[in-house]
Amino acid sequence: MPTRNELWTKVQQVLQKNLSKPSYETWIRPAEFFDFKDGCLTLLAPNSFSSDWLRKNYSQTIEDIASEIFGHEVKVYIKVKDEFPLNKSNKKKTFSNLENSSIVARENSDVKSKQAPIKKFLPGLNLRYVFNRFVVGPNSRMAHAAAMAVAESPGREFNPLFICGGVGLGKTHLMQSIGHYRLEIDPEAKVAYVSTETFTNDLIVAIRKDGMQAFRNRYREADLILVDDIQFIEGKEYTQEEFFHTFNALHEAGRQIVLTSDRPPSQIPRLQERLISRFSMGLIADIQAPDLETRMAILQKKAEHERMRLPRDLIQFIAGRFTSNIRELEGAFTRAVAFASITGLPMTVESVAPMLDPTGQGVEVKPKQVLEKVAEVFGVTEEEMRSPSRRRPVSQARQVGMYLMRHGTDLSLPRIGESFGGKDHTTVMYAIEQVEKKLSSEPQLASQVQKVKDLLQIDSRKRR
Ligand code: ADP
Ligand code: MG
Repeated sequence: MPTRNELWTKVQQVLQKNLSKPSYETWIRPAEFFDFKDGCLTLLAPNSFSSDWLRKNYSQTIEDIASEIFGHEVKVYIKVKDEFPLNKSNKKKTFSNLENSSIVARENSDVKSKQAPIKKFLPGLNLRYVFNRFVVGPNSRMAHAAAMAVAESPGREFNPLFICGGVGLGKTHLMQSIGHYRLEIDPEAKVAYVSTETFTNDLIVAIRKDGMQAFRNRYREADLILVDDIQFIEGKEYTQEEFFHTFNALHEAGRQIVLTSDRPPSQIPRLQERLISRFSMGLIADIQAPDLETRMAILQKKAEHERMRLPRDLIQFIAGRFTSNIRELEGAFTRAVAFASITGLPMTVESVAPMLDPTGQGVEVKPKQVLEKVAEVFGVTEEEMRSPSRRRPVSQARQVGMYLMRHGTDLSLPRIGESFGGKDHTTVMYAIEQVEKKLSSEPQLASQVQKVKDLLQIDSRKRR
């Protein structure tokens, strides 16, 4: 886990790779780290124009990246440097003012009653993750209905509610919506949102400090507990043991439990049988990848929230390029908007298309080339990548290959699997997710991936 101000440095590194040079130099580099605590990252922009711009166009991306690096939800606040003197006595007071004002400023449209007490937004519940910002499509209808039902009458029909689906498909959004909605109905409700990683870390600290009783009280007190990404409990025997007891205590007391995972309970490796059976005893609802129409509706909604008007063909174009991960779809949208604003070009398919190429290169790539270049950079053979070998360099290369095919070609997950000697599409999904995760934390891997991308680009220039 990064230290306090390292977090911003790391976020900058990721953005530098993903933004165009002018965007990065204009907006991201000048923003200074001020503070990071309780999941709130505060940055200082050089002037008010820049802070507005950052807030409008980048705060979500920064939050996503910072959350990814930090391991759980991070909120970002952007202040103007001059209005925010760094002297200590001032700091505390301004910070809380700042917190309120930014929340209201950014989320006005969602906060129904303007007087809504700020305490309602528990640390860890992201203000954007509410039902009215969740677009329901055929892919998520059932999960959405179940989530609403659970928020309205917790502890009844579906306990636990187990939401599963691939990365970036809205599991966390839906789960947190339950928390917000519950609090809207019953502001006194004790809602706890926790990532599985936090649960595990808290447990470790409790054991070390002999604070098990406090730990248990804290978790077993909740009326509604939301545990995100439970698949990470895999193989952690002691955490599983403790979670089993927490689960039982809550369940017996009629409290509502909601879990998310990237796969159904029975497919989580090294998960105790008794947990599999507990997790499966309520309702398992899955979220699938959204179809084109739903993806367009998601972009439309996002545009409305940011008070932007995008031509329909541009929305369709973006939605057509990013098919399997809504986080990426949103990222593309944000890049398009930033690009158009910085360059002064109109928001048309033509002007933003080069910016949105999933490889970031503006070139078309063939699966065969990907295999070839990955093999070259990672020092393995194409044959090995297609084989079942689990040797680390081979599996690493294979994962990167799958990732690059996903982002650089139009192949579907099963077709990508085939290019690697008939791997299952869930293996491909897992591989992509692994690479996405590692890119921000493993610079060596990131530079190897970049090298493959460069080679692919050189190659396709030659072919032109
Ligand atoms: P997951 O937890 O499944 O990896 P998230 O819940 O973090 O995915 O969603 C990724 C991003 O996509 C979030 O910014 C979220 O708001 C957005 N998103 C996902 N599904 C929807 C949806 N149906 N409607 C609107 N936004 C969505
Ligand atoms: Mg999530």
